[in-house]
Amino acid sequence: LQTKLPAVGTTIFTVMSALAAETGAVNLGQGFPDFNCDPKLVNDVTAAMQQGLNQYPPMAGVPALREAISRKIEALHGHHYRAADEITVTAGATQAIITAILAIVRPGDEVIVLEPCYDSYVPNIELAGGVVVRVPLTPGTFRPDFDRIAAAMSPRTRAILINSPHNPSATVWSQQDMLRLQELLAPTDIFLISDEVYEHMVFDGQTHQSAARFPGLAARAFIVSSFGKTYHVTGWKVGYVAAPAALSAEFRKVHQFNVFTVNTPVQHALAQYMADPKPYLDLPAFYQHKRDLFRAGLARTRFKLLPSEGSYFQCVDISEVSDLGEADFAQWLTREIGVAAIPLSAFYGDGFDQRVVRFCFAKKDETLIAALDRLAKL
Ligand code: PMP
Ligand code: GLN
Repeated sequence: LQTKLPAVGTTIFTVMSALAAETGAVNLGQGFPDFNCDPKLVNDVTAAMQQGLNQYPPMAGVPALREAISRKIEALHGHHYRAADEITVTAGATQAIITAILAIVRPGDEVIVLEPCYDSYVPNIELAGGVVVRVPLTPGTFRPDFDRIAAAMSPRTRAILINSPHNPSATVWSQQDMLRLQELLAPTDIFLISDEVYEHMVFDGQTHQSAARFPGLAARAFIVSSFGKTYHVTGWKVGYVAAPAALSAEFRKVHQFNVFTVNTPVQHALAQYMADPKPYLDLPAFYQHKRDLFRAGLARTRFKLLPSEGSYFQCVDISEVSDLGEADFAQWLTREIGVAAIPLSAFYGDGFDQRVVRFCFAKKDETLIAALDRLAKL
């Protein structure tokens, strides 16, 4: 069998979650909360189902939800996306990203990705027949290196994918970074896919710099987000794409054939729930508390802590703790210490090993404390 994705196996998140389950380890690997969402949200879904909202919604999403998304983006970032033709509800960010890529990337087109990057990007580009152009984030700090990005741009570049707050490094792009990107892309026709799934998890008083804030970026951007992250419902798989009408039209051509529509009652519930901005406005403080609790515990180990400016991830340098490579270390940590983590090499095409692993702190305080008790011996 000639396979389309010969280099692809099962995702590291699935592998490490299975190992954690098998060994009884505390699972700080795969990124998902171990606490429930707001019961109101569950009630709203049940109510929508009982009202009979159980058939196909409009292809682009329930209008009330698209209106709510439009209002939120305008309130936070000052850019108006028309609910009618500029916002599309998706089956999570994963489907949003592959759909945007399939909508714009033609065979042979180059697409720039900044490594380390989320594991779906590269196979998505390959499935579209695109050529992946990998540009490393600055080693050590994981900040964008605009000279290297500029050097990677060519007349064949069709799109660039960015992600802030960043999975896995937990860095956050500054306003300066976004302005720099805007300046670089200004003389080009390059599309931007801006993965902003952790948009509401930015710490220490920083502000999320959505591409929506920068007119020169917004005009070429597919902005992707996920309700899974924002409302602690990763299993519901609902997200959205905001993009100018011409781009949204191309997006919807693919969307109507790879998913067509997204879960109706959940969309109605999310539309109602979004009327109150408090849950997402409270999210930075909610996760900053968990980050600080987790970092304070890790500070008592020989792990070297990297910054965590946003997202729900914390990376650590393992070199004082072990001589193992990071992938072996993640296995060892899960089996012998009872805490699962993700090696950063999983986010690189060539498996680059810099002796760093990622923990997810979207967990009950008691889970974090249990993990820290086990890590205390390191
Ligand atoms: N992008 C990034 C950076 C992510 O971390 C995730 C979630 N793991 C996704 C996209 C996918 O989000 P969703 O679960 O909504 O498909
Ligand atoms: N985004 C999550 C992470 O980075 C995992 C999602 C998945 O399992 N595909 O851990």
